[in-house]
Amino acid sequence: MLAKAVAAMLEERQAHFLIPASIVANVQEDNHLDHAFMVLTKVRYAKIPVLDNEQRFKGLISLAMITDKMMGLNGIDPGHLGSMVVKDVMETDVPTITLPYDMEKILHLLVDQPFLVVVDQHQTFTGIVTRREVMKCVNYIAHDLERQYMVTPLPAQQDDKK
Ligand code: AMP
Repeated sequence: MLAKAVAAMLEERQAHFLIPASIVANVQEDNHLDHAFMVLTKVRYAKIPVLDNEQRFKGLISLAMITDKMMGLNGIDPGHLGSMVVKDVMETDVPTITLPYDMEKILHLLVDQPFLVVVDQHQTFTGIVTRREVMKCVNYIAHDLERQYMVTPLPAQQDDKK
């Protein structure tokens, strides 16, 4: 369980966490891999969300997943990217989060993922929460905690330090 003061300070700032769907680069599950390759190269993000034609979240795709398909016996061959689609190679075992945020879950998941996908109850893609935005908030808490709360060590902690 999160410390109450930390949970309260995280909650206070959680409106800043979401990067809305309208500004998140994405591809459609039926796009050909050569298109996804171009989008990923252009936006310079390592991984981006994959959606269906009703804006529902389906998975994630990275440049590495595509270049893996280009590797042939004689080196890199982008030739067959036009005959494969994003859903053939995307990652689908991806944790998602919903509003209202479960901050404890988010902090755990962000240890291993640089961003988390936010969906609504119909799996419609709402946006992403990035490790960067949450780290900004952790930074704020680390600096401001003692301006808002009185934090005193418990006797057992003081004894340990002697
Ligand atoms: P950041 O913490 O801002 O470096 O973002 C971490 C990861 O989140 C990036 O490497 C991307 O995979 C993803 N990401 C962040 N912002 C966007 C965006 N606007 N569109 C698509 N993916 C994004």
